[in-house]
Amino acid sequence: MRILLIEDETKLAASLKKALTTESYAVDIVNDGESGYETAAVEPYDLIILDLGLPKMDGVTVCQKLRQEKITTPILMLTARDATHNKIQGLDSGADDYLVKPFDFEELLARIRALLRREQVQPEPVLQIDSLRLDPAAHTVTRGDRDIALSAKEYALLEYLMRHPKQILSKTQILEHVWDMDTDPFSNVVDVYIGYLRNKIDRAYPKEPPLIHTVKGLGYKLGNP
Ligand code: CA
Repeated sequence: MRILLIEDETKLAASLKKALTTESYAVDIVNDGESGYETAAVEPYDLIILDLGLPKMDGVTVCQKLRQEKITTPILMLTARDATHNKIQGLDSGADDYLVKPFDFEELLARIRALLRREQVQPEPVLQIDSLRLDPAAHTVTRGDRDIALSAKEYALLEYLMRHPKQILSKTQILEHVWDMDTDPFSNVVDVYIGYLRNKIDRAYPKEPPLIHTVKGLGYKLGNP
């Protein structure tokens, strides 16, 4: 899941990125409203965290402009000011949720998960394909009755695949949703990480049908036909 963080407090932005990356989100940071709007308008994000008070263009304007452009990405607004009118203004401008600074990181995570869940086609909190189960709340993956230990990136990749079962996902699509914008679009990270996942999810279970499939020239697909 890829998150755009529009926040002018560089220290806060950096520490949030670090913490969210540990939770296996791919995070891009922009430090002013104008570049925030421009980035959010062209790049495919799964969620936008938007500070209210920003240089060049304030958060409310960014939000209004994105909604005018029919960009429906969930927006979580942040503000340092604990005033009811800011909250109303934020939600009126099209934000989906609102968090007052300083906030608890666990609270932020819970809000992010709730917003991403709303976007999901399947309402079930636990994702399951065949005997493979991924629990987004507990951050655990099991196949059959065995736990599978994954790195943050492997987990993020698997979660993205499991949220789009039986769909052919191109390497570009995967790269755009699981890696941040610093990643070289021509790198082979997707293939490398698909290889890691195959080892842990398919090759470790030789008696089970393989779940990760290569669709030649098009990309990858998770699940059986
Ligand atoms: Ca600010």
